[in-house]
Amino acid sequence: MTVNEIIRKKRDGNTLASDEMKFIINGYVNGAVPDYQVAAFLMAVYFRGMNKEETAEFTKLMLHSGDIVDLSHIRGVKVDKHSTGGVGDKISLPLAPIVAACGVPVPMISGRGLGHTGGTLDKLESIPGFKTNLSIDEYKHVIEEIGLVMIGQTKEIAPADKKMYALRDVTATVECIPLIAGSIMSKKLAEGIDALVLDVKTGRGAFMQSYEQSVELAQALVGIGTSFGKETLAFITDMNQPLGYAIGNWLEMVESVECLRGRNVPDVMELTYVLGGAMVMLGKKAESLAEGIEQCKEVVKNGKAYEKFLQLVKRQGGDISFIQHLEKYPQSKYSEPITASASGFISAIDSLELGFSGIMLGAGRTKVDDVIDPKAGIVLKKKVGDAVERGELLAELFTDKKEILEQTVQRVKNAFTITPTPPKHTPLIISVVDKEGVKPFVMPNSVW
Ligand code: URA
Repeated sequence: MTVNEIIRKKRDGNTLASDEMKFIINGYVNGAVPDYQVAAFLMAVYFRGMNKEETAEFTKLMLHSGDIVDLSHIRGVKVDKHSTGGVGDKISLPLAPIVAACGVPVPMISGRGLGHTGGTLDKLESIPGFKTNLSIDEYKHVIEEIGLVMIGQTKEIAPADKKMYALRDVTATVECIPLIAGSIMSKKLAEGIDALVLDVKTGRGAFMQSYEQSVELAQALVGIGTSFGKETLAFITDMNQPLGYAIGNWLEMVESVECLRGRNVPDVMELTYVLGGAMVMLGKKAESLAEGIEQCKEVVKNGKAYEKFLQLVKRQGGDISFIQHLEKYPQSKYSEPITASASGFISAIDSLELGFSGIMLGAGRTKVDDVIDPKAGIVLKKKVGDAVERGELLAELFTDKKEILEQTVQRVKNAFTITPTPPKHTPLIISVVDKEGVKPFVMPNSVW
């Protein structure tokens, strides 16, 4: 068999056998198959898809391309959360310390920015000194000591995904259900969890733009998790506008730290509390989602979640003075205001456009080896539904790259739609998917 034959077979819409998939994936990890052939393979999968059996096999091969961490010696039900990727999606940053402060161990292995979306790893690395490249032994020590650890994929954790993730990012092969499912679940199943909460994004700024596709992805993810004996719960959530106000690594860190200190950014905190409540429930520290949410709110109010985050930053080598004094961080060389060209109501903010604009400003990569500028990004001043006067500030851009400012200003301005009447309210959390099926999400009355 040759790689050329396997690519051709998938390109022509045929089903791949397990040994063919093994040949290409193992060959990629050990260097026998070059990037350009895997890029062609990924594009063939993008157009032709994979059936359920191929997806399960693909995930298994990615998972077994590395080690599976054993955390069984650590007390408690270990629970993680993973998002399929969004714009301004900083939820892991407040969420992980909140859940850990509720007594549920959170071992989190995250990815970098992908396509137009940001990655938790890049956000964590915006903290001076913060180390995301811990060895598996260190990873185990940190979770044992403080009940929380946040790292990137090591060479031991699903190395096939680590390589392929970076390649997909720059070859327009991200938005594909089997590739996303294999990527997420191989990492998550390798990290030593007992249960998993998934945030499956839907809408303009998500990889799955239609609700139906998002449900399909959620079901694929829950199906894989369940088949590996992990309790898995997915929430389908809206990504038609960015989450919160900040887009860009350090800018999102600032917003997250403020939330941990008690600032209420409504969409960020609604999602954080619901996903956190679900994690606390799956971690067997709460009987219901409502009770889990209450516990999460309590640890924000009493400061324990913020303390847990400081403990994490310190333990992983970060300089906590930048967290304690957010204003200490260096500023971008250039900032540019974006103002409204009409009065009315913000009826849409195109999150996909803002994701790409953030990358242009320096907050993401266009090539595998691009270096991110942690200061770069966008701060929104208005969200969907807000009233606005002509000339009022809609957003502010931050960058060190003067040459791209003018075109990005126009792009960001065009991302806002202003209409004379307010838009219809749409829910942030749309539905829940578990092994029984899909249900509309209903917020427990007692907590909101
Ligand atoms: N997150 C991942 O880890 N992988 C994907 O493919 C998409 C989102």
